[in-house]
Amino acid sequence: MSSKITIAIDGFSSTGKSTLAKQLAKYLGYVFVDTGAMYRAITWYSMQNGYITKEYFDTTSLINSLSSIQLKFEFKPEMGLAVMLLNGVDIEKEIRTIEVSSFVSKIAELAEVRSKLVEQQQEMGKDKGIVMDGRDIGTVVFPTAELKLYMTANAQTRAQRRFDELVARGDTVTFKEIYDNVVERDYIDTHRDNSPLVKASDAIEIDNSEMTRETQFELVLDLVQKAIKLK
Ligand code: C5P
Repeated sequence: MSSKITIAIDGFSSTGKSTLAKQLAKYLGYVFVDTGAMYRAITWYSMQNGYITKEYFDTTSLINSLSSIQLKFEFKPEMGLAVMLLNGVDIEKEIRTIEVSSFVSKIAELAEVRSKLVEQQQEMGKDKGIVMDGRDIGTVVFPTAELKLYMTANAQTRAQRRFDELVARGDTVTFKEIYDNVVERDYIDTHRDNSPLVKASDAIEIDNSEMTRETQFELVLDLVQKAIKLK
């Protein structure tokens, strides 16, 4: 019998979910899936097709075109990570911009978008041995996951992390726009009707505002080992 488990990591924007998930997957030899990238890809597609702008949001056209959107993660050994392909095109860099961040939570509110992506995510995790991060992984995608983490940190710290990340890749952004975006996404993600961000009753909460990556990793590895034993 395989001792592989499912690890669900949910939480607020820029709490380091993907960084932790990636670290864990590498250590355990598990598959890593960043579900935020999937919502971002649909957002980028909607922007490219003019379905969403600052002034309006044509939900009907987006919903009608969902069946023609194919998403895939492709592992790039030379980069040691997976990139997001939309209909075969690498859009990894494009989906990380502040423009995409400013629309993504509106796209993620749509039930049709969520059900398409949730189905794909469940398929990716059907054999376990997966670390998936997002907002609804422990509540909707894998409600029976053996280990569920719920990550938080104060908004100031999170915005600073995201700001540093974007500046490092050469984007021109202000701290205020990043901070406002983090706070706005928190609000939409926790208040939407469809699969809002909530802590699953059996999730373990980790506030990493004051925690180093190393300390957090050790703490989580301990939780993983306990979860594997209990399986
Ligand atoms: O994780 P990341 O910050 O890249 O996610 C971008 C956005 O995608 C979130 O703010 C949220 O609106 C949406 N999302 C979601 N459900 C997920 C993952 C992301 O609604 N499982």
